Amino acid sequence: MKVTVAKTAGFCMGVRRAVEMAFDAANATTAPICTYGPLIHNPQVLSLLEEKGIFVISEIPEAAEGLVIIRAHGIPPRERDALVESGFEVIDATCPRVVRVQSIISRHARQGYAPIIVGDREHPEVVGLLGYAGENGHVVESMEALERLPDFEKAIIVTQTTQNAAFFEKVRSWALQNHPGYKIFNTICDSTEKRQAEVKALAANVDAVIVVGGYSSGNTRRLAEIAAENKKTALHVETASDVDIENLTDARHIGITAGASTPNWIIKQVYQDLEARLAGGRGVLYRFAYTAMRFLVNSNLYLAAGAGSLTLACMWLMGLPTGAASVLVAALYILSMHTANQMLERQYDRYNDPYRAEFYHKNRLFLTGLASFAAMGALAASWWMGPLFFVIVLCMSALGLLYNIEAEGKNGERKRTGLKNLPGSKTVLTALAWGIVAALLPAIYTNGYLSAADVLVFAWAAAMVLVRTAYFDIMDMQGSRIMGRGTIPIILGEKRTIRLLKAILAAMAAALPLGWAFGILDAPGMLLVICPLLMGLFLHSYERKLIFSTIHRGFVMESFFLLAGIVAGIGMLLL
Ligand code: SF4
Repeated sequence: MKVTVAKTAGFCMGVRRAVEMAFDAANATTAPICTYGPLIHNPQVLSLLEEKGIFVISEIPEAAEGLVIIRAHGIPPRERDALVESGFEVIDATCPRVVRVQSIISRHARQGYAPIIVGDREHPEVVGLLGYAGENGHVVESMEALERLPDFEKAIIVTQTTQNAAFFEKVRSWALQNHPGYKIFNTICDSTEKRQAEVKALAANVDAVIVVGGYSSGNTRRLAEIAAENKKTALHVETASDVDIENLTDARHIGITAGASTPNWIIKQVYQDLEARLAGGRGVLYRFAYTAMRFLVNSNLYLAAGAGSLTLACMWLMGLPTGAASVLVAALYILSMHTANQMLERQYDRYNDPYRAEFYHKNRLFLTGLASFAAMGALAASWWMGPLFFVIVLCMSALGLLYNIEAEGKNGERKRTGLKNLPGSKTVLTALAWGIVAALLPAIYTNGYLSAADVLVFAWAAAMVLVRTAYFDIMDMQGSRIMGRGTIPIILGEKRTIRLLKAILAAMAAALPLGWAFGILDAPGMLLVICPLLMGLFLHSYERKLIFSTIHRGFVMESFFLLAGIVAGIGMLLL
């Protein structure tokens, strides 16, 4: 059995923007915050907002204080004015595409046109749009209602942004035939159109479609309807626990899509749940390989092997003899720090990788023991290298743990302070720590000083790790936003971060031949160019959404470090 996830599944631009504005406000201010009406149609996101102290109001109070967020659907202008008059500071999270429809309606209403809005009368977006139509606005939900309207001298037709494209085409044909003078605006959001087209294509190629999203979300319900029109099993679920596996027993290929208000972590949960059930139905060998891969990645044992391998690659590049102690220090230090930090952050991990969060919760004793043993092992190996190295590793371990300590703001305010709240600090410090243990410590241990080659290799290793960590930060963006962490992708945005990472990879690929051309590095080290090149290809596949499974992505990303070690090992033996 195979699972395919639609590329358009999850938050659309407008919803993501509104949710981000709400979390950013919660992380930046201590003032009371509320949303006027539910921010989006997803109960899990709404309860998360409540956890952050953002509550929903449905009535406008006479006197108010604090911030009020207008949701992505928008509201009528008179209600907006009333919010301001009551004393609220208004954060307008109306989707820019809805704002465009509002402007079309209000501009034409002022010029005497009768605005006809094709949409669900009760839908908040339509209620908001109608507020811009003045006295002569009309909402139609069906062809019959449209045909019952009086003839207008001047009229415009617009649609709710999430309207069914096929229905709009019927409306357009009717208007062209009966009222050629009416102005028609196709205001269906292309995100909706793309999502609907994709679910249609998906349903044609799979045996069953799972549509993930709030039961009250109109656009999610429409996706389920479109999937069902293809005579395929279509399950509309809110969470992974709603998936009725009995309905899927005959399906050999399952498609997953999600409404515009469904957060990534719920889609991941549904996917991971199905993936685990599918693994259970396959052969013993596949099941073993899948379980082993999950365990190695989530326990950071695979990452530790990668850190050891990267150290081996750095030693080869720097022309140092192989030293077991250096490799051991790097592998154990990285294992202890990553495991300890993930343990400390595990309550937030449910918004990034629900399976990993559960793994950390279930195995907390084992993982705490593993992190402690790894830390002691790293200290013992560094002691064997010499007191200086012991002190360095001890200080780095203490800093690694201190990094996670954060202080609440004054009077228990929401705003937090601490090293890890410095924007981008986690990614940069992680890269530096890896670079130190993988390149600088082995170089100082062997030579007692640092050469130009050592500094170049340090930068090369740190850059590899920076790309790795920033890539995982991209995958964890929703969780970081909720936690109020200023990671590189949060600051730069996803597209710019990927561009930056590609540029770093290109520089890394060029650094080795340049190092050789300037006589700093030996020629065989050029073979390691393969690592940044493959990482670049992997980033490209991520952009094209070719791999969805988080566990496979994690496994592949960590494998580049192992590959560096294998290349170095072969080079040491043969060259
Ligand atoms: S579906 Fe389109 S119009 Fe509606 S919130 Fe999303 S991006 Fe905006």
